[in-house]
Order: sequence, then C-alpha cells, then structure tokens
Amino acid sequence: MVYREPLFVSQLREKKLQEEIARAKHIYAEHGERMFCDELICGLLAVYRDAILETGRLMKETGVIEACTRCAVEGPGSCCFQGIEEGYDYVLILINLLLSCDIPDTPEVQGSCFFVGENGCRLQGRFSFCLNYLCPDLQELIGPAHRTRLLRAVGNELTAGWELEHALRLRFGKQ
Ligand code: SF4
Repeated sequence: MVYREPLFVSQLREKKLQEEIARAKHIYAEHGERMFCDELICGLLAVYRDAILETGRLMKETGVIEACTRCAVEGPGSCCFQGIEEGYDYVLILINLLLSCDIPDTPEVQGSCFFVGENGCRLQGRFSFCLNYLCPDLQELIGPAHRTRLLRAVGNELTAGWELEHALRLRFGKQ
C-alpha cells in the first residue's frame, strides 16, 4: 500500500519552504550586489560552479543523465519525490540565486519535489541526498569504477558548496 501523508503535512512543509525562499530572495535583493563584489564569496562561488560542472560532465559521460531521463519519462519515475525539498534552507536557496537559478514561489509540478520544473531540477546547487543517491539499477548500469569516480566528484562538489555556505553564513547570516 502506498503511504499518502495528510494534506496539512504537505501544506505546512510548503509554507515553511516558501518562508525560506522569501528570506533568501530578500537577502539576495538587499545584498546580492555586495556578494558579487566580495572576493572570497566570488572565489568560492567560482570553485563551486566548476565542481557542479564536473559532476554534470561525469553524469553525462557515465550514462546517468540518460538513464534518469528515461526512467522519468518511461517509468517507473523520478526519484525527486515530494518532501525532499525539506533539505533546502535559505542559504542553499540563496546560493542558487547567486548561480542565476530561477526559484519559483509555488511548485510547478504537483506531487513532486517543489523544485521540479518542466525540464527537470531547477537548481544547480543541490544538497547531499539529491547528489549521493544512486538507485540499484543505476549502480548496476554504471558499475563500481564509474560509481567511485562519480561519488568522488560529488564529494568535491559538496565540499565546495559547504565552504561557500559557511562563508555566506559568517558574512551575511545575520540578515
Ligand atoms: S532538488 Fe532537484 S534533484 Fe533534488 S529532489 Fe528536488 S528536483 Fe530532484
């Protein structure tokens, strides 16, 4: 039997996330320009962007992107289920704004993660679950050697993201 959570639980979760999004957008509007002029933040943002690109490159090379797209279109379906977005707070959302992501105020696809858009995930900076999870079929498809390479790149990306997040919290966390 498929578990369906009560409606008020998902409504509460959505409201909390919308508050995080509003806070991130407010900080971005007030301090975004200053952040882009901050040498440390800009440097860490560039390292993070490169790490994201490298993970994306490896996902393409190892066939992960193709397999996930096929699964989402033909079934059994995407892993981006409703509730994962709880892992995102205002700082990670702010980082996505700094990476030029378009963050919606309401979900585009009902019944899925808040950040699923028409063309898949709307975010560039993603939290660990979104990056680390490889379903059993995917693990079998890419094999242990590619899996190790991919998870190493994911580790680098998460580290770069954490360093940027840490710097932003120290400099702008009181906003
Ligand atoms: S944040 Fe993106 S990758 Fe993570 S579950 Fe949501 S849509 Fe999927």
